Amino acid sequence: MIYLTKRVEFSAGHRLYSERLSAEENERVFGKCARPSGHGHNYALEVTLCGQPDPATGMLINLAEFKALLEQRVISELDHRNLSDPIPMLRGRIPTTENLALSIWETLVDKLPAGRLYEVKVWETQSNWAACRGEG
Ligand SMILES: [Zn+2]
Repeated sequence: MIYLTKRVEFSAGHRLYSERLSAEENERVFGKCARPSGHGHNYALEVTLCGQPDPATGMLINLAEFKALLEQRVISELDHRNLSDPIPMLRGRIPTTENLALSIWETLVDKLPAGRLYEVKVWETQSNWAACRGEG
């Protein structure tokens, strides 16, 4: 099996706040990330595909087409946005790194050949990332 990863970056803001929790609980759970002003991150997105290279091209996927897919379906939807605003891709989820990884997986999985999408990894900072492999 061959794995191929494309990395792209985007910048966005958010506020971590759950309508299911009281103001005090939000403060306790999310700390300063719950402040009404929100804050921003420079995110990195790594999308890994798997499979066998095409014998005719030696490639798993055309990287230019893959980059265009990520730009059109993900980056254009998230870059320079407030992720706490209603964004169709997020389906009302709290814009945590975990939920971003899940939402991006759901966005891409049916736009790639079946079984090709291996992992969606979202880096919120240089020390925090969440990944979705579509399991469970
Ligand atoms: Zn944050």
